[in-house]
Amino acid sequence: MPAMQEQDWVHWAIGRIEADYARSADTHLLPVPLPALPGIAIYLKDESSHPTGSLKHRLARSLFLHALCSGWIGPDTTVVEASSGSTAVSEAYFARMLGLPFVAVIPERTAREKIAAIEALGGTCHGVADPGTVHAVAARIAAQCGGHHIDQFTFAERATDWRGNNNIAESIFTQMRREPHPVPTWIVCGAGTGGTSATIGRFLRYYRHPTQLCLADPASSAFHRHWYDRTQSAGTGEPCHIEGIGRPRVEASFVPSVIDRAEVVADRASIGAARALSRHLGRRVGGSTGTNLVACARIAAEMAGRSEDGAIVSILCDSGERYASTLYSDDWLAAQGLDVSADEARMARFLAEGCWQD
Ligand SMILES: *Cc1c(COP(=O)(O)O)cnc(C)c1O
Repeated sequence: MPAMQEQDWVHWAIGRIEADYARSADTHLLPVPLPALPGIAIYLKDESSHPTGSLKHRLARSLFLHALCSGWIGPDTTVVEASSGSTAVSEAYFARMLGLPFVAVIPERTAREKIAAIEALGGTCHGVADPGTVHAVAARIAAQCGGHHIDQFTFAERATDWRGNNNIAESIFTQMRREPHPVPTWIVCGAGTGGTSATIGRFLRYYRHPTQLCLADPASSAFHRHWYDRTQSAGTGEPCHIEGIGRPRVEASFVPSVIDRAEVVADRASIGAARALSRHLGRRVGGSTGTNLVACARIAAEMAGRSEDGAIVSILCDSGERYASTLYSDDWLAAQGLDVSADEARMARFLAEGCWQD
């Protein structure tokens, strides 16, 4: 295609993404009822309400705009990604919007609901047995077909405009304006690419907010080990049951220096918390939301113990509907050897009575 036509196509593509944004509403900030802790408010930013159902919708929009404006994607480019599912679902949506082929390289054990969602949006899934090889396989497939490896793990932290432009942090602060504690004491989030924590952490510094940022991280993950000791770059090597977070290695987009505190959460505790919260809210949430809630409960109990009032904001990253055959299936939990009943009861007690004991 001649250069001029190629530029026209890029302008058209950016316009399509901007029009989609103009048609979209902001995501809700949901208060979590905590009757036993009247001085402490926990809120969840409901990222499941994006058109593709997770916080990866923001990331996919940013990655496509960044790649288009960098001259990496043209009208004939196959877009390839290494993703455990949610990013690929959102990228498939934008690829289809632009008429581009999309290939997702995913671990074979990815929930079948997610694979169906990628395929329903016109994407192709390429399963690999070893989750540690998804990056290399995605790069190889892109090179073989002359496509573009859009590479969430490298570009998440730089593709998003951290100063504002209605990023997740700006949206949270705008929505908190009329709350009793409009500037939260803590924001709690997980890390998969690390893009969300980097965006929030930089935003907090840029606007000179006193809010502190807590990383909620699965026990097997490399991220909290690296945060405690920068010479560490690997996790335990055990599989993580919490999709979207908990990486076996430190990813390029993870920025440890903007994080003030790390809370380590066992997978059992995350799943138990997600199930208890789902009953409390009357709707299912994903596993990483459970990880976040455990960190929120620890911080809230600490604050209550010191008679401190304040707000804690975290993220409802995706809906539990995607995990009906995994986290919400008693048979699946039994097959994994995961007994989450004590953890579920602990979180139910926190939500009803305000007490937390690890
Ligand atoms: C990606 C993801 C996260 C973590 O977000 P990052 O910005 O990639 O660090 C948390 N939960 C879910 C469900 C995700 O898909």
